[in-house]
Amino acid sequence: MKLGCIADDFTGATDLANNLVRAGMRVVQAIGVPAGPLQSDSDAVVVALKTRTVPARDAIDQSIAALRWLQANGASQIYFKYCSTFDSTPEGNIGPVTEALMEALHTRFTIATPAFPDNKRTVFKGHLFVGDVLLDESGMQNHPLTPMTDANLVRVLQAQCKGRVGLIDHLTVARGADAIAERIDALKAQGVCIAIVDAVTNDDLLRLGPALKDMPLVTAGSGVAIGLPANFGIEPSSRASRLPAPGGHQAVLSGSCSLATNQQVREFVRAGGPAFAIDPLQVARGADVVAQALAWAEPLLPQGPVLVYSTAGADAVKAVQARLGVERAGAMMEATLAAIAQGLVTLGVRQLLVAGGETSGACVQALGVTQMQIGPQIDPGVPWCHAVLPSGDGLHIALKSGNFGGADFFTRAFGLLQ
Ligand code: ADP
Repeated sequence: MKLGCIADDFTGATDLANNLVRAGMRVVQAIGVPAGPLQSDSDAVVVALKTRTVPARDAIDQSIAALRWLQANGASQIYFKYCSTFDSTPEGNIGPVTEALMEALHTRFTIATPAFPDNKRTVFKGHLFVGDVLLDESGMQNHPLTPMTDANLVRVLQAQCKGRVGLIDHLTVARGADAIAERIDALKAQGVCIAIVDAVTNDDLLRLGPALKDMPLVTAGSGVAIGLPANFGIEPSSRASRLPAPGGHQAVLSGSCSLATNQQVREFVRAGGPAFAIDPLQVARGADVVAQALAWAEPLLPQGPVLVYSTAGADAVKAVQARLGVERAGAMMEATLAAIAQGLVTLGVRQLLVAGGETSGACVQALGVTQMQIGPQIDPGVPWCHAVLPSGDGLHIALKSGNFGGADFFTRAFGLLQ
């Protein structure tokens, strides 16, 4: 392993892994800090934590545990990944985790930048823009957990840190790696420990890459990742996303009720795919929907992909939530779909698409998936992955969060894997 990454949430980890694969690295994503060694050969490992909004002390402890595992498995550089909208509370956790990692790595300087131009996140004069507007006018000022009311990242990060925070501005970045290195030396001499870095284009990130070569710790959104593999002599190559040959039956499980997923379900049915709808009220009444879905799927599986879904439109979801309560409805459907995922794998499914962020979490946990090799991208942000199940069997799996993917996602994904 060359690069060891610690991500503060699950979909953010996949986003980073995907960028590294596209830049030529073979990447494994681990769900939580692995209990054992790495299951497959890789250039980078992304440990996905859930530390964005937990108390700072917890976030630090989990991040340090991830660091120790990555170091024990040979990582020579550490990348702490956070959201491209710099999601944090006034107490952290970006600042406290960064400073704890710096201390553990015995390093006195690092950078911080959420810039991700491909996703319209740019940083200029230390200010974060989302599309054409400043962070605090982007809607993020109203986020329920991490309201971002200041676009000046030097100020935001300074409020979370003990050490001094400075800026490497765009004039410096535009002049290239040597100018950035000079600026870093000057900032260090002034006692600055962390520097926000301006970047408005991918070229800026590619210029930044070489300047980070010998930095023990890099902290960023997923954008900076595009400039790092070259430091290890790695170039973009389709070999990075190669997975073992797929086998077994194919299935889609969908618990996402977002607009894009509703469209994908409709398109799968329209194209003639066999589909089984789950009614949450029937589940609540105690019907054995899991057994019914599996009995329906079993004879169809040899003929091609099947879809089992609870996906529904906004009005239907609201009606169910009014009857059962939001949390109970969600937890009940997640448990139902996770049990169906287990049953489908028992029936020989080895290529599984799961739609829905929370639904994916529940399915992955039920299947005992702890590490996934990242493969080719189906649509932006959603790669096929390969996992080894506790039984020792391989499983190709893709986890699609809500609004990702085109209308033909379910029909197209399996073709791409072959
Ligand atoms: P997304 O990524 O689109 O947000 P998630 O899986 O994260 O999807 O969230 C969808 C939530 O809605 C889950 O908790 C799921 O169990 C729940 N759910 C699924 N189907 C229904 C339904 N028909 N009615 C109410 N809730 C549902």
